[in-house]
Amino acid sequence: MLSYRHAFHAGNHADVLKHFVLAQVLSYFNQKDKPYWYIDTHAGAGMYALDAGYALQNAEFKTGIAPLMKAASAKNLPSELADFTQLIQSLNVDNKLNLYPGSPTIAEQLMRADDKMRLFELHPSDCKLLLENFSGQGRTVKIEMQDGFAGIKAILPPPTKRAAVLIDPPYEEKQDYQRVVTCIKESLLRFATGTYIVWYPLLQREEPLHMVQKLKGLNLPSWLNITLTVQRPSAEGFGMHGSGLFIVNPPWTLPEILNNNLPVLVDLLGQDDGANFEMTSQIS
Ligand code: SAM
Repeated sequence: MLSYRHAFHAGNHADVLKHFVLAQVLSYFNQKDKPYWYIDTHAGAGMYALDAGYALQNAEFKTGIAPLMKAASAKNLPSELADFTQLIQSLNVDNKLNLYPGSPTIAEQLMRADDKMRLFELHPSDCKLLLENFSGQGRTVKIEMQDGFAGIKAILPPPTKRAAVLIDPPYEEKQDYQRVVTCIKESLLRFATGTYIVWYPLLQREEPLHMVQKLKGLNLPSWLNITLTVQRPSAEGFGMHGSGLFIVNPPWTLPEILNNNLPVLVDLLGQDDGANFEMTSQIS
């Protein structure tokens, strides 16, 4: 069942956390000349309008990217968040915020001429948009309308032996939590040194927590787990009160960057006194 459309959520607090961290990982990869692959198992449409259509329905970007961009114009952000807002601004015109990039576009903005992208998107409408957004990119970008959990098996290890992988399923089917664990386990057998970024929601149910516990139990070389909570969990027990990222083989520089930047995101995106960030790691 493919009912999820990311356009409803484009630019929300979870996108900001995920895309900011993705930008830090790729900036780290860029420090070496050697080319790399960016693999996105659940790529979405690549670009979203914020001034029309789905994104306006719940206007989630108003408590996500919008307050961050406002803070950027006051010029009081740490350098990494300031760079991130510049990247978003460069995709818009006249200092407006009408467009918000998806993960493939964030990556495209940071990758160099020899780096390559491999994108999977199962939803026919979003895959069509993705193909349109990346048309004319030749062999640099390859897009496939297929299950990303299956597709990644065929492309690991990448010929460059360097890759960052984003695993960002909708979790509308609760099997996605176990699919992520299996995907990481099998991917590491093929390509142990890749950097894998897993996004997950913070919900009042046990699946996300269990998934993280299972990931930690995989005997990983090194990992980093971060959560950004934006509000107290609701009294009714429903809704997403934040999101997390579990990163396998994170850049060693990432914890310090996050310690400097995530308190600012808590201030800007926090909606009540439940807002906070947490980080745990095992980095060798
Ligand atoms: N990574 C995107 C970003 O950050 O801009 C957002 C991705 S969205 C959370 C999840 C996407 O996965 C949706 O566009 C959905 O259609 C797609 N999808 C769902 N199941 C999939 C599967 N098994 N393989 C590939 N894509 C899938």
